[in-house]
Amino acid sequence: MLSFFLQKFAGRHHRKYVEKCRPVVARINEFEKSYQALTDDQLRAKTDEFRARLKQGETLDQVLPEAFAAVKNAARRMVGRKVIVCDHELTWDMVHFDVQLIGGITLHEGRIAEMATGEGKTLVATLPLYLNALVGKNSQLVTVNDYLARRDSEWMGHLYSFLGLTVGCIQQQMPSEVRREMYGRDITYGTASEFGFDYLRDNGMATRKEDQVQRDHWYCIVDEIDSILVDEARTPLIISGPAPIEREQPFTRLRPGVERLVADQLRFVNRLVKEASDLLEKKDRTAEDIQTAAMKMLQVKLGMPKNKLLLRLMENPEWRKLLDKTDVEMHSDFNKEEVYKLKEELLFTIDEKNHQADLTEIGRGKLRPDDPDAFMLPDLATEFIEIEKRTDTPEQKEAAKLTAQQRYEVVSEDIHAISQLLRAFALYERDVEYVIQDGKVLIVDENTGRVMPGRRWSDGLHQAVEAKEGVTIERETRTYATVTIQNYFRMYEKLAGMTGTAETEATEFFEIYKLAVTVIPTNKPCIRIDRNDSIFKTRRDKYNAVVREVQAANQRGQPVLLGTVTVEQSEVLSRMLKRAGVIHTVLNAKFHQQEAEIVSRAGQRGSVTIATNMAGRGTDIKLGEGVRELGGLFVVGTERHESRRIDRQLRGRCSRQGDPGLTKFFLSLEDELLRLFLQGNLASRIMEGSMKEGEELEHPWLNRSIESAQKKVEQQNFAIRKRLLQYDDVLNKQREVIYGIRNGALHAERAKDIIFEMIEEEMAVRLENTGFGEKGGVSTTSLESLVGWLNSHFPISAKVEEFAERSDPGELLTTIVERIKKAYGLKESVEDTAALGGLERYIVINAIDHHWQEHLTEMEELRRSIGLRSYGQKDPLSEYKSEAFRFFEELMNNVRLQICTSLFRSATNREAFENLFTILARSARLQGPAAAPTALAAASQSAAAEGGSAGGTAVAEAAEPEIKLPTVTIRRETPKVGRNDPCPCGSGKKYKNCHGA
Ligand code: ADP
Repeated sequence: MLSFFLQKFAGRHHRKYVEKCRPVVARINEFEKSYQALTDDQLRAKTDEFRARLKQGETLDQVLPEAFAAVKNAARRMVGRKVIVCDHELTWDMVHFDVQLIGGITLHEGRIAEMATGEGKTLVATLPLYLNALVGKNSQLVTVNDYLARRDSEWMGHLYSFLGLTVGCIQQQMPSEVRREMYGRDITYGTASEFGFDYLRDNGMATRKEDQVQRDHWYCIVDEIDSILVDEARTPLIISGPAPIEREQPFTRLRPGVERLVADQLRFVNRLVKEASDLLEKKDRTAEDIQTAAMKMLQVKLGMPKNKLLLRLMENPEWRKLLDKTDVEMHSDFNKEEVYKLKEELLFTIDEKNHQADLTEIGRGKLRPDDPDAFMLPDLATEFIEIEKRTDTPEQKEAAKLTAQQRYEVVSEDIHAISQLLRAFALYERDVEYVIQDGKVLIVDENTGRVMPGRRWSDGLHQAVEAKEGVTIERETRTYATVTIQNYFRMYEKLAGMTGTAETEATEFFEIYKLAVTVIPTNKPCIRIDRNDSIFKTRRDKYNAVVREVQAANQRGQPVLLGTVTVEQSEVLSRMLKRAGVIHTVLNAKFHQQEAEIVSRAGQRGSVTIATNMAGRGTDIKLGEGVRELGGLFVVGTERHESRRIDRQLRGRCSRQGDPGLTKFFLSLEDELLRLFLQGNLASRIMEGSMKEGEELEHPWLNRSIESAQKKVEQQNFAIRKRLLQYDDVLNKQREVIYGIRNGALHAERAKDIIFEMIEEEMAVRLENTGFGEKGGVSTTSLESLVGWLNSHFPISAKVEEFAERSDPGELLTTIVERIKKAYGLKESVEDTAALGGLERYIVINAIDHHWQEHLTEMEELRRSIGLRSYGQKDPLSEYKSEAFRFFEELMNNVRLQICTSLFRSATNREAFENLFTILARSARLQGPAAAPTALAAASQSAAAEGGSAGGTAVAEAAEPEIKLPTVTIRRETPKVGRNDPCPCGSGKKYKNCHGA
């Protein structure tokens, strides 16, 4: 009862809005009447007049009545003209109706206009697109597919150009020069994914502003907005490519050894399970027997959690409980030793939850009997200390350190590969977790069972599975840029939408996108007849009834549109109709242009068309001759969708513009939705029990029950989408920040300011970490390391003594930054000024891109692992947020650091580099020996290592290296280290004060 009143109320609310528009409509029509006296040129001159008035401060709302009138009047003048649309000739026959003017106002106000199919949304959009383009920014319209973008831009383009506006459309495969030109026009049509990808390319990949194609994100109307914001919710657009190869992947080399290890362990754990089950099945088993068995089972779980025999044993709930209990008990601190003992008897252990697999000591010995330490991570810090103690020359020491470090990297990569191979062998089963097709490993979605081509497991797991299966090992891909369609559309200053069906999701549009829905009345009253649903016991009964119904209509000559949910259903029905001798056409949403043409003929006498939900959408079905008398188009639904909106879409395909029409849905108790609805509903279970095969049920009461089942599912789905969006928001905010900086650099004449902001921030962090401004004061060692860092990055000849006296960190910060600026000024004086801007941009963008892409991958992994963490009392979303924040901080740290590192290590040309070096060397001599320009020395070294000049980097070979840059980099194969965590080298210092410095 309540919802009935709410509906009434909601209806009144729409009517109120429409009434408010009426006086505006009257004014538009008055203006339009007066324009009829103008010449074509005078009408066209209106466009410039409006533009000028807007420049002088008039608002769009003030200009609206005249602007809409101009569009309407232009449409009137075009009536009877022949226009070419997609290579076909059409005669223009449209002048905006009053309800279309209301629709136009709604769209201009940034709302969603719900207008029934056939009400002419294409024409409605011309009004606000024209108006909003007058400010000189790009007005855009998003269509469902490429074909409609072209068709509508060409069709409506005649109207725009009549008024002196330019219009274009974006198509797949268009080269970027053409895209830029299209976005440069007043009005641009295109699909959501083309717009979204262009945005990603512009902001995540373009390295020069000339390569960017979009102008702005000003005003956008999204056609079929419900399908974009609701159905496609959460489909992110992703630009990815191969990740840079760092080293030969060791999977192939390590595979045979790991395979042997897994086979050995399998034998061992199978024996354990056997022993455990023998104990458990013993008639006179004691409590001790049970305990022993439990420990054996636990050991199997530690070594091979997915062991088949173990899983079979676990089918007995009693044993499952026993194992779970033991597992919990044993993982308390008390029993650490015991668990450790169990583990040490194995060859390797697997921790499913943490995606971790480790060799044990015996495992290592078995894998490399000749060198059991081959897979132990060396203790780099101790090795370095040992090396320092030697009596070698500094060069020899340096070389020894380098060798040690390289070995560390190889070993840590091997360990990682072994871990992934162990998981691939022990946890991932072919034809369950993945399948092999055409020599590729394809992931199987665990929920739907569908194969997901193109998706890859991350972090080397996919390569490990490829190595296991002996297929070609493909390179890791890396995400360069990604955005969800929803988040893309949230960027527009003004967003509007149109659709035939939005009302049922109005709450969602408003809550999430702040878009209000207005239902626009139809031009002529709708006389469609919606019959009650028919319900059958089985699917077969249902299909038979559908075929009978179609056959009957076909014999009458009444055209039928048969809507299905899946391609498979379409095919089943097609076969059945063929057997029944009914000639028909099948559409599967694959060939947009052809399908649009076929659908437009679906209203002809005697035609039968089967179409999936998506096929031929956005095309209007006109009735053929004599069809009106037969009752118009008959729309048959073969299943109720989860969401009422999709059903309404299907119904809406008939009865356009006051035409007659008929709709009916056929359902069966085997349908997904009904199965869901039947669960736990007593009345329906009685119905299920009493219903006979072939029997047909039909009652308005049933329609209402089904609708309430749909509402429940809708609400659930809304909650899920809302949740997912909250996750998305986190990354979205981060993207805004990063793209903001990146774009700032791209568009700045010189990116110097951004660079120095970053340097200043980095310095502030470092001064704080050194202890300036803190109670404990600054220790000599940390001060030395700060000065060392400064000198290895910037040629400013910093000395320890200068710092000790000062204590005010603010003052210190300014002084240091000033000195770096001065040094940079020196550099500027010897650089090629024209190229310097480019170099600075490169420094910023390169740093951002590298780390941002890595960050995207990490965030993806975080998202996945958080899903696993949602046990216990923790809220996964807030976990995700705080982790994501930490990741972002680290990202910004990395970007800043890379900018600091590259500033004095790059030059516009080689000569500049040498000049700077000479100048600095001279000033260094004047200042004393401690002031060697080490930053440059280090640069010359690293550049030399790269084999000369790479890109904008030039080298000064003459440079005599004095202090080298710390070359130790702890790679991230090992667990990530937070800045405040203890350093993994074992020094006992915080990471940020040790290797992380
Ligand atoms: P929708 O997208 O709302 O379903 P379309 O934009 O495809 O509708 O238009 C449906 C049909 O109505 C088109 O054939 C169009 O020519 C026609 N039409 C739209 N507006 C008018 C009008 N004002 N006068 C006459 N015909 C119109």
